[in-house]
Amino acid sequence: MKAAILRDRRSMVVEEIPTPKAGPGEIILKMKYTGICGSDLHLYSTGLLPPDTIMGHECSGVVAELGEGVEGWGIGEKAGLYGALYCGKCFWCMKGFTNLCREMGGIGIGDMPGGYAEYMRVFPSMLLKVPENVTLRDLAVMDPFATAYHAVRMSGFKVGDTALVMGAGPIGLCIIRHLRLAGARLVVATERVERRAQAAKEFGADVVLDAGDNVLNTLSDLTNDVGVDYVFECVGVPDTTQEAFNLVRRAGKVVLVGVCLEPATVQPVLWIIKEVSMQTTLGFTRAEFGDILDFMHKGVFKADSLVSETVSIDELPEAFERLLSPNTELKVLVEF
Ligand SMILES: [Zn+2]
Ligand SMILES: [Zn+2]
Repeated sequence: MKAAILRDRRSMVVEEIPTPKAGPGEIILKMKYTGICGSDLHLYSTGLLPPDTIMGHECSGVVAELGEGVEGWGIGEKAGLYGALYCGKCFWCMKGFTNLCREMGGIGIGDMPGGYAEYMRVFPSMLLKVPENVTLRDLAVMDPFATAYHAVRMSGFKVGDTALVMGAGPIGLCIIRHLRLAGARLVVATERVERRAQAAKEFGADVVLDAGDNVLNTLSDLTNDVGVDYVFECVGVPDTTQEAFNLVRRAGKVVLVGVCLEPATVQPVLWIIKEVSMQTTLGFTRAEFGDILDFMHKGVFKADSLVSETVSIDELPEAFERLLSPNTELKVLVEF
């Protein structure tokens, strides 16, 4: 089979490697789509993964082979994939927080080969049954909708609250949609790229500002001099971490969703004098993934609103390099 292998930092090659075989209790999935995640781009450029990793955790495909003892799945059946590995037994798993499992791991980040390959070995516990009307393309974008869903749920956001979403990449866009579903009174987004700014309006933002505009003044104008109740930080670079605290109202809440891999300079005194609270969020739970399937079954989310481009696996190394520089894409999928 063909696989895109990350040899080293910023060095990805597409090669023929042996197709995996299903061992006892395992399933082989034939990939149809794998989404390129912002975290993949971070890991690609920072070199934090072990050599020869096959990345890709936002996958959809069909069952191609069943290992000995696997029941409940048929060849050719489509499957949703929960790409986080969890034990199901630890303190956090028992409370439903499978995203915080003590033995936390994931496909495509060095623990198990991911979906930038034509076939992938998985365990049945990672798969979800998929309603007939949810397509393989929809399944490939469940990950950003689920990440955004978890972030909004963890934030405690309530009907009538107001929010600023910093950054309208795929996660920011999905947060805007969830805030609307949650009954937001005002959703403002900041985004520099015109295409993403346009998408932010389509996803439900009332106002979209350039991050270079005088955002604080505009938020004040839009809220009778109060400011927004929540700031969702979805950019994940050092500067925007402190900026989120500057932009939230007194006694408001900052939700850190963007994954910043570098040290950030912050000024705690500026948080303290506003009595700001903060919530960090990581991925989503297995149960929340099931909820997103249900939303998709009801037609609330469709892939087409989020996918801006598809590439072949042969084009993947070039696409990674292109997406690292400032770009106008929303979600890019590898199509097999
Ligand atoms: Zn992802
Ligand atoms: Zn666990």
